[in-house]
Amino acid sequence: MTDDEQGGSTASSTDGLMEKVVNLCKRRGFVFPSAEIYGGFRSTYDYGPLGVNMLRNVKDAWWRSMVKMRDDVVGLDAAILSPAAIWAASGHLENFTDPLVDCRKCKERWRADRIDGVCPNCGSTDFTEPRSFNLMFKTHAGPVEDEGTVAYLRPETAQGMFTNFANVLTTTRKKPPFGIAQVGKSFRNEITPQNFVFRTREFEQMEMEYFVPPAEASKWFEYWLAERLAWYRDLGMPDDLLRVRHHEADELSHYSAQTADIEFLFPWGWDELEGVANRGDFDLQAHIKGSGERLEYFDQASGERYVPHVIEPALGATRAMMVFLLAAYAEDEVAGEARTVLHLDWRLAPYQVAVLPLSRKEELAGLSRRVLSMLQPHYMCDYDTTQSIGRRYRRQDEVGTPWCVTIDFDSLEDGAVTVRDRDTTEQVRCPVDGLLAELASRAAPG
Ligand code: ATP
Repeated sequence: MTDDEQGGSTASSTDGLMEKVVNLCKRRGFVFPSAEIYGGFRSTYDYGPLGVNMLRNVKDAWWRSMVKMRDDVVGLDAAILSPAAIWAASGHLENFTDPLVDCRKCKERWRADRIDGVCPNCGSTDFTEPRSFNLMFKTHAGPVEDEGTVAYLRPETAQGMFTNFANVLTTTRKKPPFGIAQVGKSFRNEITPQNFVFRTREFEQMEMEYFVPPAEASKWFEYWLAERLAWYRDLGMPDDLLRVRHHEADELSHYSAQTADIEFLFPWGWDELEGVANRGDFDLQAHIKGSGERLEYFDQASGERYVPHVIEPALGATRAMMVFLLAAYAEDEVAGEARTVLHLDWRLAPYQVAVLPLSRKEELAGLSRRVLSMLQPHYMCDYDTTQSIGRRYRRQDEVGTPWCVTIDFDSLEDGAVTVRDRDTTEQVRCPVDGLLAELASRAAPG
């Protein structure tokens, strides 16, 4: 857990940005408040038709860079429901707590390390003594509710990688340095969930545990910090919105020997986006002790036996999606008309291509549908025949669709369509036969 202060300042250039993005998310189907027809359920969100595409793209971009493009990292999908033994061994039962205080005046509850001694609700400074509040969701597996059936919803995906360390080692024949990556839901009973999907009680994480020979831990920590920064840059994140903050010794989590946060400049100030931690051998040793299993690596060539150290880059997928939206949001003018545009990298946009027949007339439908079917295996496509073409371009700009393909009556004669670019609004004529090549060249890096 990090205890970094929540910045309170709002830069004037980002005034209203948060409200605008939250509003866009609701209006265009990225993110809905959960259980809305029943008045909502605090701090839970549902991902709508566009949000589910984008969230999937964020996770795919991470998986591609962390697993698919490497031969030293493999994937895992471990259970969410887990026995108390895992969390007793990992230290979460004892240490995964936040300091909880009650305001004596208005009775609101707060995380003591986040409020600076003043109640954000009523301004009172009269609080109860802080008490430790465990953030794990507890439940029972099976019909009997007793101590023997206690189970937890995992508060992080990481432990699945440690408990499966030996399984992965023997089934893949990997040897350190190698990693295990996982994307999935985690649950934390946060005292004060806040800031839209920045901090929620149910969220998705993307974590990778990289197991290394002990003497190489610092080297790999630096390596992964640089790799992770490069990932954001490659997806179009401007450098000035990210910074690295190294944790002081007194701030380190119970498991960590070295931690750096990759911070993003949120509308409320710098705050954590991703953590990169050198966890030493804390976790494997904890599970060796807890389970009695030998969670170690035996190097047959040298006869050496050791418990690897672990470097962990850990990021919230939902928090990452929010950050890409905040960074992409812009308002500008096209031909004297105001527009809202999301400058999302094409790989993250909910739709890559919108296929737009100029009119709803039946003659255009055949060719338009053929173009759509040709593009669908390669790109997530929207097909929209409603409203004027200008209105439709604006609607696509607003959700970040990088390319619009318009089919008009000339297309029936010359077999060509118009490709419009979201960022420059430039339009070029392109033969249908060459459309896939045209889009591929726009998608190519550089
Ligand atoms: P904090 O101190 O802010 O509660 P943390 O430092 O404990 O968070 P980690 O345990 O390092 O967070 O989690 C790794 C990543 O998972 C975070 O950097 C963040 O991107 C994401 N994350 C953690 N908690 C939440 C949450 N409640 N909602 C959304 N994302 C979260």
